[in-house]
Amino acid sequence: MQNLTGSILVVDDNVVIRQIMKMALEQNGHHVTMACDGHEALALMKAHFFDLVLLDIIMPNMDGFGVLEAMAQIPDLAKIPVIVVSADSQIDSAIRCIQLGAEDYLVKPPNQTLLRTRVNSSLRKKFLHDQEQAHQAEMEQLYETVKEVIAAKSEFVAMAAHELRNPIAQISTTNHLLGKVGPLNELQKQLLEKVNFSLERMQALIVDLDDISRLEAGNIRLEFSEVNFGALLAKIAESFSQDIKAHRHELTLMIPEDLPPIWADRQRMIQVITNLLGNAIKYTPDRGEITITAVHLPHHHTIHLTIKDTGLGISPEEQKQIFSKFFRSDDAKVRARPGTGLGLYITKSLVEMQNGRIWFESEFGRGTQFHLMLPEASAELDNTAEATYDMRLPL
Ligand code: ADP
Repeated sequence: MQNLTGSILVVDDNVVIRQIMKMALEQNGHHVTMACDGHEALALMKAHFFDLVLLDIIMPNMDGFGVLEAMAQIPDLAKIPVIVVSADSQIDSAIRCIQLGAEDYLVKPPNQTLLRTRVNSSLRKKFLHDQEQAHQAEMEQLYETVKEVIAAKSEFVAMAAHELRNPIAQISTTNHLLGKVGPLNELQKQLLEKVNFSLERMQALIVDLDDISRLEAGNIRLEFSEVNFGALLAKIAESFSQDIKAHRHELTLMIPEDLPPIWADRQRMIQVITNLLGNAIKYTPDRGEITITAVHLPHHHTIHLTIKDTGLGISPEEQKQIFSKFFRSDDAKVRARPGTGLGLYITKSLVEMQNGRIWFESEFGRGTQFHLMLPEASAELDNTAEATYDMRLPL
């Protein structure tokens, strides 16, 4: 076994024993300091750094028990390992010292080999423990740094989103006015439409970036209330009627009349459903079928919502990533459609913040079905629901 060297404090009132131990330890390369009683030992420990203490039990002024009790009260000293060096007849006292925190004991006068082995093994443990602590401190420091970097990034994103809002709103207003100040020819109209389309995309991106920075900073405040989910779904579907018509999709709503209300933040739930339905419309080639189904699961106090499309689908490799920030499929057909890759990341966070779950099934080239589980309002209100239903559903 490799010989470790350390700074060792030898505490003994017997000068001969002190000297024997000093010589033996120095022969093994240790740096040795000596104390003749408990008081001196504690004073030295407070002033200097030691890797190990070899402690006699019976001493004038303060004995070994007193030293161990005092060390236990001071965090820096409590970490120093202690080997008790006791006379053969003091075995009970040595056991008591171990109960007080000593790590090991040796019989006086210590046998050289035993002394070397015990000191070595105590030092090894101490150094390993020190290394672990240093590693832990490093990890904590790293964690703090990462947190600071993330906070700085979120702050930057929020600031950029905020600063971009005004100029974009101004461009948008100016474009609107352009059509009013005089007649535009056909080409000018087409160019202006393109500009407006790009502006809309930028505005959507700004809203998403703003949400992301709020989510990451834990800055989104939800206002929960009873939400009539059936009516809300019908309203959102209606708001997409132009799009549905333009793409000649068929939209079917299967929502029971007596669907109970959910417990949610109304605006944020609109954002969630709008994103999922918007994606279904966007990623389904013309003449597709989109179906929204809501089912009440009374035993689980939950509403199960599905939004199903017959669109592009998602390949198995990409399925693992679709809730990641900025993820967009590599598929050229997806890339041809506008998007930021932030919608599903935000959607998942918002659903989970509203005590819901989201997952999906998809077949590449055939279509996708998103599932949502949302808590029924009555369960949240009386809080008597037994949460026995296993919501850990597959992604
Ligand atoms: P965006 O639509 O702005 O790109 P999202 O976060 O909403 O961002 O979606 C991330 C990606 O997931 C999309 O770019 C697309 O590749 C895929 N995706 C989402 N919904 C569907 C869907 N209904 N059908 C096929 N692919 C989808």
